[in-house]
Amino acid sequence: MPDKPLRILISGAGVAGASLALMLARQPGFKMQPIITIIERSSEPRKTGQAVDIRGPGVDVMRKLGWEQEIKRRHTTEQGLALMDGKGNTKAYFPATGDEMVQSSTSEYEILRGELVGMLLEGVDESKEKGAQVNVVHGETIQSMENRDDGIHVHFSHGKLEDQRYDVVVAADGISSRTRSMIFGREDKREHVKPSGMYLSFFSIPRIDSDDRIWHWANFPGGLAIHLRPHRNEKTMGVYFSICTPKKERDPNIEPIVHADVETQKKYLRQVFERSSCTWQLKRFLDGLDAADDFYMSHSSQVKTPQWAKGRCVILGDAAFATMGVGTSLALAGAYCIAGELSKIEDAKDVPMALQRYEEIYKPYVKEYDWELRFFPQVANPQTVWGNWLWHAFVGMVAFLRVPQLIVVFSKWFGGGDSKGWKLPEYGW
Ligand SMILES: Cc1cc2nc3c(=O)[nH]c(=O)nc-3n(C[C@H](O)[C@H](O)[C@H](O)COP(=O)(O)OP(=O)(O)OC[C@H]3O[C@@H](n4cnc5c(N)ncnc54)[C@H](O)[C@@H]3O)c2cc1C
Repeated sequence: MPDKPLRILISGAGVAGASLALMLARQPGFKMQPIITIIERSSEPRKTGQAVDIRGPGVDVMRKLGWEQEIKRRHTTEQGLALMDGKGNTKAYFPATGDEMVQSSTSEYEILRGELVGMLLEGVDESKEKGAQVNVVHGETIQSMENRDDGIHVHFSHGKLEDQRYDVVVAADGISSRTRSMIFGREDKREHVKPSGMYLSFFSIPRIDSDDRIWHWANFPGGLAIHLRPHRNEKTMGVYFSICTPKKERDPNIEPIVHADVETQKKYLRQVFERSSCTWQLKRFLDGLDAADDFYMSHSSQVKTPQWAKGRCVILGDAAFATMGVGTSLALAGAYCIAGELSKIEDAKDVPMALQRYEEIYKPYVKEYDWELRFFPQVANPQTVWGNWLWHAFVGMVAFLRVPQLIVVFSKWFGGGDSKGWKLPEYGW
């Protein structure tokens, strides 16, 4: 049993932070004794969100956690993707491939985000019961931190934790990470958060008899789309409203809405979609929007920071490399690499080297996604009637010809990424 302590603070209990906490708490093969604190800004666990995919190395991490069967059991039951016009006419259909390592737009490991976060946090609790030293604190954030010779001294905002010294600080607090700015200061620039021009909102609505197990995606002019996706339970379905601007830029009209309260966001979306040409189940979706208690809206940005590790501090998940469609898988594999590199060190003075190794090992894989996002999401969310016609003609042809290579390229746009030849490092656990 290792006796030298390694004090680790994780900011953010989303998929990235919670999965890292779990892997550290299980302490597989650690040479030091991890003492973990994970803080979350929200006063309670954020167990909401719609379907997220587990792909590529994320699948290997899930297997290492011993969760393959459990994730399959919780699969959303989605069977494929149907692209439609605003009247509900299907223009193309792409079924799931059934191959876990070459997944189409519908993943073989499709799970609701809230369920995954719940599983991770429950796993952390179980490890604690077995003796892991882990403290999960909700309603707390980092107020400030100072890098001294003996570690990072952290001062907290809400008084739930005393000021403490840590050997490692991990920023896993999402795209707009405040901790990232504290670590990198002026080096953390606004241009590292690259807008996609896509505003997405997620919420659940009651299921009706005519609902099936297909992801329905209806495009209509104005860069607008509505998605309807199945949940495993027989009671609800997931709905996404998306607004895509013509360029990868922030829209000055929508930006204030993203930062406004939920009621303002819902009201804005209602106005936009009521005025659209969509007739497919629109009343049902708008009623569902009004009633939803799990509504979430964001601007899908890509985060591309030049550096992930700095001394004893490091960034992970969306805070470091938010990437549309694969954020969850990237977060899982990144957490595994951090835990693995930390598991090898025998002294806290080696923390900077371990974090640097994580960056060196994992960055080449994350970089692979740059190309795939070049044309997405604008091509798939056209502004005009003609643009929509062309888009549907293209996807219709790809689906009709059933050329496997084309389908895989097409699916990659929608998160169908694979391992790209990159392999998870082995840490012996
Ligand atoms: C509520 C919610 C719903 C989502 N729904 C979907 C969805 O339906 N589909 C999809 O593809 N993706 C969704 N996402 C995004 C998706 O979960 C991530 O892209 C991916 O899983 C990577 O996760 P992450 O942990 O890096 O970031 P996030 O999931 O954004 O988690 C970051 C966490 O840090 C917390 N946090 C923020 N600031 C601070 C702070 N200063 N101090 C402490 N904690 C802080 C946040 O509350 C959040 O819990 C959602 C995210 C959230 C937060």
